Amino acid sequence: SCIPGRTNLCSNHSVSTPKELPPSNPSDIPSSLVSLDLEGYISFDDVHNVAKDFGNRYQLPPLAILHPRSVSDISSMMKHIVHLGSTSNLTVAARGHGHSLQGQALAHQGVVIKMESLTSPDIRIYKGKQPYVDVSGGELWINILRETLKYGLSPKSWTDYLHLTVGGTLSNAGISGQAFKHGPQINNVYQLEIVTGKGEVVTCSEKKNSELFFSVLGGLGQFGIITRARISLEPAPQMVKWIRVLYSDFSAFSRDQEHLISKEKTFDYVEGFVIINRTDLLNNWRSSFSPNDSTQASRFKSDGKTLYCLEVVKYFNPEEANSMHQETGKLLSELNYIPSTLFSSEVPYIEFLDRVHIAERKLRAKGLWEVPHPWLNLLIPKSSIYQFATEVFNNILTSNNNGPILIYPVNQSKWNKQTSLITPNEDIFYLVALLPSAVPNSSGKNDLEYLLKQNQRVISFCAAANLNVKQYLPHYETQQEWKSHFGNRWETFAERKHAYDPLAILAPGQRIFQKTR
Ligand code: FAD
Repeated sequence: SCIPGRTNLCSNHSVSTPKELPPSNPSDIPSSLVSLDLEGYISFDDVHNVAKDFGNRYQLPPLAILHPRSVSDISSMMKHIVHLGSTSNLTVAARGHGHSLQGQALAHQGVVIKMESLTSPDIRIYKGKQPYVDVSGGELWINILRETLKYGLSPKSWTDYLHLTVGGTLSNAGISGQAFKHGPQINNVYQLEIVTGKGEVVTCSEKKNSELFFSVLGGLGQFGIITRARISLEPAPQMVKWIRVLYSDFSAFSRDQEHLISKEKTFDYVEGFVIINRTDLLNNWRSSFSPNDSTQASRFKSDGKTLYCLEVVKYFNPEEANSMHQETGKLLSELNYIPSTLFSSEVPYIEFLDRVHIAERKLRAKGLWEVPHPWLNLLIPKSSIYQFATEVFNNILTSNNNGPILIYPVNQSKWNKQTSLITPNEDIFYLVALLPSAVPNSSGKNDLEYLLKQNQRVISFCAAANLNVKQYLPHYETQQEWKSHFGNRWETFAERKHAYDPLAILAPGQRIFQKTR
């Protein structure tokens, strides 16, 4: 399964960490970088600012940071590094908002390109039958939302948190409660502008340079740097009806989730989460959610049971409030939740979409945002979800005091299979996200080791029980594990790497390929 002449792309050995690269940088490399003719600039003394990511577990400073002002700055940098060839170890990581979890946006002793510097030309909106927005790859989704809302428009598919960049989420998938209907964010892109690993600037779409287009979407930054993206839009609602209901029976919960995502006329957003050992949670909701029947709700006692919360949203404009109430009432009547646990609220669309930012502010104020985040995201086929839930939520995880546990199904039939994203091979699969924070505990130590072991137990269980699970935002130590992640799509992935980034310069922090010397 080797690519002829490309031994670095097909070794069965562990992929070296950037730390293990030979320290043979000639001392004139920094001056060769400075000599580049750029509209932006290169800095060396602030590399500590991009040495970590949100996961906060690795500290690997680059040699330099490129603050690009134009696409040609990025292209010049790439061409320069290609030209240096085997005389340098330099790799390049495009850095979006640095919200990766395991060093994926780092380039140890390489060059980090700060994509947020590339925000001009500005966000451009095109109205019409198929409206879209043209944005820089370094643009934050929250800025795109604010701008498109001025025209009554909005992207269709989201992540739960909007302070992430277009290039960062399109390199993964971008999954949230709208993905069952619209597919992930990578399915809602009309066109991309890419700087490949050879420094070429290429415009691509489903019709033009389509192989590069689909390679880059979900491509973990391996094939090129997304400098611009054209994202499809729809009319934006002003308000959302936001509803939470509880289940104590996992089968009833997942049956209802699957029922909702299989209907044509349904909610606009379907997610869910698991509540283990958290009797206080219902009380917390009272501040922002109203119980449908407060007397009944006050009688509900969870008795320490594991509960499953279905979270759904219906978009509406104030003049459509009556029909919205009728439609949500009908949909809710088809579900089997615990009747006393219906909570709802009505909030502006932007407030709903930007909800995690409110949690971020609270955590930052307590110094709990910049802690290690040993997150684990899994895509689990429908046929395995019951077995997974039974073992993981009852036996492996004993509480979720350290962070949310999300769980919701999506329809693969709405997802484009030509992208680089790897998913389970069933039409319906679940996203399960274990999102703990390793906060210092009462003994002053943090729980990182414990949480990492817990993740490992979950992964080992999935493997031993043959659940055919795939990691989302994947992270592996060896190329063998990457091969197994990609399965029969590995060959194509490696061939495309060879075509678009033959020296393996891009996104070294993913640890899939090692730079050729
Ligand atoms: P970075 O971390 O900076 O980069 C990620 C990878 O993409 C790196 O390998 C980097 O080199 C590469 N890259 C960055 N920019 C470009 C570019 N322009 N061109 C090519 N490659 C590039 N994900 C979801 O799908 N759904 C969610 O609901 C969700 N919620 C999240 C909530 C929080 C609080 C956090 C921290 C993360 C969440 N994520 C979610 C994960 C998130 O989508 C990924 O971590 C994403 O990579 C972060 O975007 P970023 O802009 O910070 O990218």
